[in-house]
Parts: sequence; C-alpha cells; structure tokens
Amino acid sequence: DRLISPDIRSDDERFDRAIRPRRLDDYVGQAAVREQMGIFMEAARKRGDALDHTLIFGPPGLGKTTLANIIAEEMGANLRQTSGPVVERPGDLAALLTNLEPGDVLFVDEIHRLSPVVEEVLYPAMEDYQLDIVIGEGPAARSIKLDLPPFTLVGATTRAGLLTSPLRARFGIVQRLEFYDEAELAFIVKRSADILNLPVEEAGARQIASRSRGTPRVANRLLRRVRDFAEVKAEGRVTESVAQQAMDMLEVDPNGFDIMDRKLMLSIIEKFDGGPVGVDSLAAAIGEERGTIEDVIEPYLIQQGFMKRTARGRMATSSAWLHFGLKPPGHRPG
Ligand code: ADP
Repeated sequence: DRLISPDIRSDDERFDRAIRPRRLDDYVGQAAVREQMGIFMEAARKRGDALDHTLIFGPPGLGKTTLANIIAEEMGANLRQTSGPVVERPGDLAALLTNLEPGDVLFVDEIHRLSPVVEEVLYPAMEDYQLDIVIGEGPAARSIKLDLPPFTLVGATTRAGLLTSPLRARFGIVQRLEFYDEAELAFIVKRSADILNLPVEEAGARQIASRSRGTPRVANRLLRRVRDFAEVKAEGRVTESVAQQAMDMLEVDPNGFDIMDRKLMLSIIEKFDGGPVGVDSLAAAIGEERGTIEDVIEPYLIQQGFMKRTARGRMATSSAWLHFGLKPPGHRPG
C-alpha cells in the first residue's frame, strides 16, 4: 500500500498542477464569471485595494479552487489555503489571519463547515480588518483587538444555501459556477492532452467531453483513463472509437452517467415508483450519504432533466424512465 498510494497521489498532483489554468484568460467557459471578475480585479488593482471578499459556489470539480488561485495570481498576491473543517478553533483562524500580508488571498474551501465560534471571529475580520478574540479562560481571560492588513477572503462552497446569512452577507462578490457545455469540456480535454503530449482526435475529445458530467475534473480524470486504454490497446492515439471503448469499459454511459447516477435513478424508479421520495430515504436505499447525493450526484441529474426536486421529495422524470428502457407512468388527465 505505502509503495503504491503516495505515488499515485503525487502523479495526480503533478498532473493537476500542470493542467490547472493560472490566468483568467486560460479559465475556460463561465463567461459571465470571467467578465465580472476581470472588471472587479482590474478596478481593485487600479485603486490599490484588496479585492472584495468573494464567495464561489458550485458542485465539486467545476473550478472553485482554480478560480481562487487565479484571483491571487491576477492580484499579484499570495494565496493561503485552508478549509472549513480544518479551522477548528478561533485561535486557528487568528493564526491564519495574523500571518497575512496586505492584499493576500485567504482561500477557505468548504466554508459552510466553519464552526459558529470561528465564524464570529471572521465577521469583524471581513468587515473592518479587525481581529477581536478572547484568550485564556475564566478570570484570567482577556479580550485582544488587533488590526489586520487588508485581505481578500475567497470562500468556496458546494451550495450557497449551506451558508449562514450573516456570513453570506459579508461577501461583496458572489459567483455561481455552472456546468460546462460539451465544446468547453472538449477544449479543456485538448488542452490537457497537449500538456500530456497525448494525441487526441477532435472526435475523441468530443466523446470524452460528452461523458464528463459537465465537470472539468471529470473530463481530466476520464482523459487519463482513456490515455491508459489508448496506450495499451491503440498505440497511444485517442480516436473517437478508442475513447468510446475506454468509457464503456469504465461503465460511463453515453449520457455521462456512472454507476452511482444509474443507481440513484433506478432506486427512485424501482423502489419508490418514480417518487416523490425524501432524500434521507433515498440515501438509505442506495447506501450513500445524503450530502453526497445533494452535492455530487443529483445536481447534474437535475440540470440534465432526469430528476426533479419537489416540495415532497425527489422524482424521476420521464427521461429517466426512458433512459432505462422503461415506460414512464402516464400523466394524470387535466
Ligand atoms: P473545485 O474546487 O470546484 O472542486 P477545481 O478548481 O479543483 O474544482 O477544478 C478541478 C480541475 O478541473 C482543476 O484541476 C482544473 O484543471 C480543471 N478546471 C476547473 N475549472 C476549469 C476551467 N474553467 N478551465 C480549465 N480547467 C478547469
């Protein structure tokens, strides 16, 4: 185990570092986000200010971390990175904040998982660049106030609704990332293939793109698996048919649905007559965590029109029934 896993991880990381876009111009898609961030960053730079605190939300793998890195790069600032569950105590946050230099970007991934006491410390820091914390306990406790340098907090979360409203209100800029279309993903696949020195035909890139669940991280991951397949079975060249065969082998179907997607849809259809079914019952039925269903699996199924979220629970749409060759239940008259 020890021989294998660290190597795999460092290969992953090396690949990731090599292909991750560094400048806003290299950030594919998300046209509205790119245009707005370009303007906001240029304005802040011209005024010599730190960029306003920025909240980025969207499903995993859509480019939140990448955008945070780009913000730091474009602002000529350092990026400090942490995540909600890691910052356990107010002191942990204080240590991060007091180490910032003017203009630095503090990136907090999974920001919705900060504890309430840590959030309290963040409010004055975001609003007035003030650190206000109590050290010690009991009679010896005292409160200290420190001035912080102007900085930019970049928070990332999978769903905006997970944030408390006081925290959300303190972000001057809120960006929502959307799923990518096939052309954008094909562009990302080709760019990554170039960096890997892997010959990929246009139709091969399109195949991979169309099965990537609208997600750059999935596109890049599939590309690597297709590369393995191509090297072993097709002299290293990714044609349409090689891409297709590789993804069939990986059980990623032509809609880009993987085993979990199919399991979720089939469960709604077969165990709950198409729904509506509450997400907790669904989680129990497929043996997945509720959060994984909400953050990872269902957003794409909903965006693609295979699943619906209603007040009474999740439902499979007729597209889902048809996907499995099943006859959708008839519509009620009227
Ligand atoms: P998140 O933080 O939202 O989970 P990441 O920023 O880690 O997602 O993105 C996952 C991978 O997808 C990155 O390594 C990057 O290479 C690629 N990626 C994400 N967004 C883009 C984009 N807009 N253009 C090109 N590649 C992207």
